[in-house]
Amino acid sequence: MSKTILVTGGAGYVGSHTVLQLLLSGYKTVVVDNLDNSSDVAPKRVKELAGEFGRNLSFHQVDLRDRPAIQKIFAQTKFDAVIHFAGLNAVGESLVFSSSAAVYGWPKKVPCTEEFPLSAVNPYGRTKLFIEEICRDLRNSDSQWKIILLRYFNPVGAHPSGHIGEDPRGTPNNLMPFVQQAAVGRLQALTVFGKDYATKDGTGGPFLVSFRVRDYVHVVDLADGHIAALKKLSDPKRGCEVYNLGTGKGTSVLEMVTAFEKASGKKIPLQIAGRRPGDSEVIYASIKKAETELKWKAKYGIEEICEDQWNWASKNPFGYGSP
Ligand code: UDP
Repeated sequence: MSKTILVTGGAGYVGSHTVLQLLLSGYKTVVVDNLDNSSDVAPKRVKELAGEFGRNLSFHQVDLRDRPAIQKIFAQTKFDAVIHFAGLNAVGESLVFSSSAAVYGWPKKVPCTEEFPLSAVNPYGRTKLFIEEICRDLRNSDSQWKIILLRYFNPVGAHPSGHIGEDPRGTPNNLMPFVQQAAVGRLQALTVFGKDYATKDGTGGPFLVSFRVRDYVHVVDLADGHIAALKKLSDPKRGCEVYNLGTGKGTSVLEMVTAFEKASGKKIPLQIAGRRPGDSEVIYASIKKAETELKWKAKYGIEEICEDQWNWASKNPFGYGSP
């Protein structure tokens, strides 16, 4: 019998890609999303992309804080696990939670292993850290719970079909949506933060600008990481376990821009600015634990990431709002 998974925030960027991989892996999937920062076009496209498995997707436009509506969904369906993407409360006794590399703060060295000391250098990182701690407390107080915390590095790219991808409301926060917008002319230039840093591009000379290094992981790889985590949850010995989901490779902003220019054939105009408060300089994952225990490893590199990102951007220059 196929398992049924509740996916909160399943219409969002990582959520929609994960729902597609879940369906293609034979899971029944119930998505709950209030569409605050996402579009109902995403689940529709996921359904189409999943072909015959699309019938195993049901979507509820519901706010997680709407208790009666959530209770109704729980009364209708018995869930085997919950994957929690929405930034609100979690439910269920098996849970995969989207944490972030932000819980490492400014790491003293790289690659970051899961045992590194945790700290937050911005409010976003603090919320992830708090929720991780609450999950650990939950498991310590009730051994019925099985929880996996997935620390994402930098999710980027889009489904290779070009039909689903990242579509932030309003001004984006992350690098790739800005790169994408600069390439299609929605932005005049990409602002590169970090003039006052010298890292691996900082080779000296009059144009010394640098470039923070991040671990960019393809969103389809990330989605597959959730399937691997769900499989791990069925291991009865599990308690509350944490895994990095990254590639183990660091890439600078300029390397990313160059790769995107190559994939798109577009020139990205740059504007160099000061550092962004709260940004760490170099961070990338140690991937040993996920590789050994989840048997998961990212398959895609920055070339495929940029090709897929461009495919999505050129097919949907205005995201899900495109004509
Ligand atoms: N970045 C940039 N310009 C932008 C957005 C981001 O230069 O418009 C840089 C940022 O300083 C960081 C990298 O791109 O070094 C990734 O930023 P993002 O916000 O995507 O991820 P995070 O910093 O949270 O890892």
